[in-house]
Amino acid sequence: MTTRMRVAVVGGGLIGTWTAHFLARRGLDVILIEKGMVGAQSSGVNFGNLRLQGRHPGQYPLSLRSQALWEDIEALIGDRCEFERTGHLYVAMNDAEREKLEQHARVAESHGLVIERIGCDELRRRWPWLGEGPQAATYSARDATSNPRLVSVAVARAAQRRGAEIVEHTRVTEVCRNGTGFTLETDTGRAVDCDAVVNSAGAWALNIAEAFGETAPMFAAGPPQFVTEPIPYRVTPSVQAVDGSVIFRQILRGNVIFAGYPRTAADPVLNRAPVPPIKTLNGMRNLMKIAPFLKSAQVIRVWSGIEGYLPDMLPVIGESGTTPGLYHAFGFCGHGFQVGPGVAAVLVDLIVDGRTDTPIDLFSINRFKNSVQVSDKLAREFDLPAAAGGRAG
Ligand SMILES: Cc1cc2nc3c(=O)[nH]c(=O)nc-3n(C[C@H](O)[C@H](O)[C@H](O)COP(=O)(O)OP(=O)(O)OC[C@H]3O[C@@H](n4cnc5c(N)ncnc54)[C@H](O)[C@@H]3O)c2cc1C
Repeated sequence: MTTRMRVAVVGGGLIGTWTAHFLARRGLDVILIEKGMVGAQSSGVNFGNLRLQGRHPGQYPLSLRSQALWEDIEALIGDRCEFERTGHLYVAMNDAEREKLEQHARVAESHGLVIERIGCDELRRRWPWLGEGPQAATYSARDATSNPRLVSVAVARAAQRRGAEIVEHTRVTEVCRNGTGFTLETDTGRAVDCDAVVNSAGAWALNIAEAFGETAPMFAAGPPQFVTEPIPYRVTPSVQAVDGSVIFRQILRGNVIFAGYPRTAADPVLNRAPVPPIKTLNGMRNLMKIAPFLKSAQVIRVWSGIEGYLPDMLPVIGESGTTPGLYHAFGFCGHGFQVGPGVAAVLVDLIVDGRTDTPIDLFSINRFKNSVQVSDKLAREFDLPAAAGGRAG
């Protein structure tokens, strides 16, 4: 059976579902094909942080566009998905880290964010449960959280109500040129002819890009996540150590979710994202420096996810460098939940209007034709060389 559609979206994570939803709202015929279940990969297992502080300077316009969409989520999809403006507290343990906070704050402020600088005494007054470690912090009230287990599924449902076709348990096995359009083959025998393809296949996206003669040095990994038993509610903001060692938040049901770094390599072929037991102990140790009241909280579940990382910690977003009508959005390096709706809005600008006002040149797949600078943090975590790439296209 061959279906004719205007756009086919490959991958039913956050990027794919929001893209299908926005395309359907613009009145386009769209089919989304997901090899497993919608939102079952990174998009459904992530930490749920919608952090604005500490982003790459070039990502702010996209990030702020996305946050505005998150803030409107109920009107957009008819479901709040536990979106809360919790605020985000970035803590520093010493003077060097305080300077790092200051640098992040200046960048965020230059994009219009309101950042509070908080000294040691005020920190203890406002958040009396903080341990002795944090010496200073910055706070952004606009940063938020949402429940990742709910979002992609709710967005897919909203897209369906707008007329999008959502197909699960169907793997796209081949995408090939068909005149000026494309034909997609699947493992269920269904084929789709379309004018445009969105490659939102997450850590698996290179299979499609490489079929069109372009690639990127992407690898799969995930930050280990932990959740404690429910304890009395007291932590409102997300709290993150600016050295990147730990981040935590408490949900209204009382459980404390935390993520410990460094990240762990994942396997997209075997579909595995292991968390070695030592990472739970290290994560707890780092958490204790900030929130010692959690000392006797029991960790009841541990998990991670399969996320695509690129060495410069920036995603690939935009039209293919080799094939008009093919749009890539992958490699979100642990930041894709926050930027997801904004990325989808950009893709829809490109597909429907042929242009976008949101700056995305930084995210072109063509950047890997030359070697890119590897992020210091990623280089330390995965023992990477200082530069990578130089082979795409
Ligand atoms: C543990 C963890 C914690 C994180 N925490 C945060 C956070 O707090 N804040 C934040 O902003 N980001 C966070 N992230 C990152 C964020 O979750 C991801 O960047 C985002 O979900 C990526 O969405 P996606 O749609 O690109 O990918 P995915 O969710 O991986 O979706 C891609 C989909 O494509 C499907 N697919 C692949 N190949 C095919 C094919 N051939 N045919 C059909 N379907 C296919 C897959 O099955 C998958 O469902 C975290 C990630 C992880 C792993």
